[in-house]
Formats: sequence, C-alpha cells, structure tokens
Amino acid sequence: MPEILEAEQARTLIALRALDRPIASVHAPDAWFLKRGLTPPGVRRALRGRSFVEARRRGKLLLVDTSDDGPVVGLHLGMSGRVLIDGDAAGDPLLYASNRDAPEWRRFGVRFADGGTLYLRDPRRLGAVELEPDEDRLGPDALALTRAQLAAATTRSRAPVKAVLMDQHRIAGLGNLLTDEVLWRAGIDPARPASDLDAGEVSRLHRTIHTTLRVLGRRGGSHTGDHMSARFPGGACPKDGAPFVRRTIGGRTTFSCPVHQR
Ligand SMILES: [Zn+2]
Repeated sequence: MPEILEAEQARTLIALRALDRPIASVHAPDAWFLKRGLTPPGVRRALRGRSFVEARRRGKLLLVDTSDDGPVVGLHLGMSGRVLIDGDAAGDPLLYASNRDAPEWRRFGVRFADGGTLYLRDPRRLGAVELEPDEDRLGPDALALTRAQLAAATTRSRAPVKAVLMDQHRIAGLGNLLTDEVLWRAGIDPARPASDLDAGEVSRLHRTIHTTLRVLGRRGGSHTGDHMSARFPGGACPKDGAPFVRRTIGGRTTFSCPVHQR
C-alpha cells in the first residue's frame, strides 16, 4: 500500500518526466474516481491544452500544478494506485498485488501532444482525483516534520501513539507499515497513550522517523523495513528474538515486540 515513500517516488517520476508536455486529451472513464463534484467533462475542460508545471506532495497526496493559472490536480494513490508515465511506473513492482496492466485499471490519465501518456493505475479503485484539493486539512509532511510539530501532535492526545502517527490530520504520510517500523526501531509500544511519551522519547521518535524514512527510501519503499520479515504472529523480533504480538491499534493490524518496545 502506498505510503509517503511511494508517493515521493511518484512525485519524482512526474517531476522528471511529465512537466511541460502539453496535454492533448484527458482519459476519465470512471466518474466515481473523480471527487468533490469533478466530472469527466469538467476535468477535460480544466486540463486540455495546459501542461503540468510542478509536482509537489503533502504526505501521500500528490499535487500537480498546471500552466496558465490552471487548477492544482490532486492525485490520491489509495491502496493500490501507481503513476505510469509513457508506460513506466515508479517504485518497486513487487510491492503491489498485481503487475498486470488491465486497461480498466487506468482510472484517470492524460495523453500528451507528443504522443506520451500519464496514467493513474489503480486495481482496487480506492484512489481519487480532485481539483484544488484542500492541502491544509493535512498535517505537516512526515519527511519535513520538526521535533516541535511531533511534540504538538503527541502531547495533547491520549490516543495510542500509533494512531496519532497515522492520523493524516496530525502528521501526513505515515501508513501502517512505516508506523510499525518506526515504533519498533524506536523501542516504543504502539499502544501507549501518545501524551505519556516524555521529552526524551519524543526526541528519539522524531530522530527515528527521519532515519527510517531515509533508510527505507534508499532501499526502495515502505515494505523494505527490518520489521517486515517478522510481521506475522510469533515472528521473531530481529533485535532480540522475542515472538511478536499482533494487536489491532487505531483500527489497524499491528505487530510489535513485547520485550524491547515499552
Ligand atoms: Zn524486540
């Protein structure tokens, strides 16, 4: 499932290969995939003749600016979305359930005047496209998160620290795998109330978020964590060999070590 690292790979791909190519036509076969009142004729009118000029990101949300005072295009990757440009995808193909490219999975896209294409391919159809997305409903981006922002997100919440880290309104970009990896590396029990973390633990968590994103980003994505190999009940903690426990925390399946995560 795409998290901030996969969204960043997609953003990079758009920035490298989709900018300044005039859009000749828009592929919007699935009205349900368009959100907040956007219609297929509306998105065609908004994009045809324009170019993408900048690719930005906030958390998992891709934000693509368009030329001539055109709208910001918001692309949500959902559970299985990938960006394909001229047929190539960003990221590790092993990550996703299927690499088949069924035409009906191309929920949205454009054809450039030069004959190339950009598609959002989404087998599970949980992604979305919108114009002028409300970027400010999202918290600070996890890749740029400051210690003060992390402290503000955690100190006032009795919710489990895992739920706070995954709440996109508080911190944007961390999903289930990255959050489990971060808390495992930081030695913090995902079920602990966030406001129980002392100042030293907040600092450690902040450092660990950045280390984890840097290391896993270099390896190729959110599925490349050290914790991954033991993500099953009884899987041995790679640090100390203790059997992992599985719980549901913040509505998500959570694996953690009962020995070193306190
Ligand atoms: Zn352990």
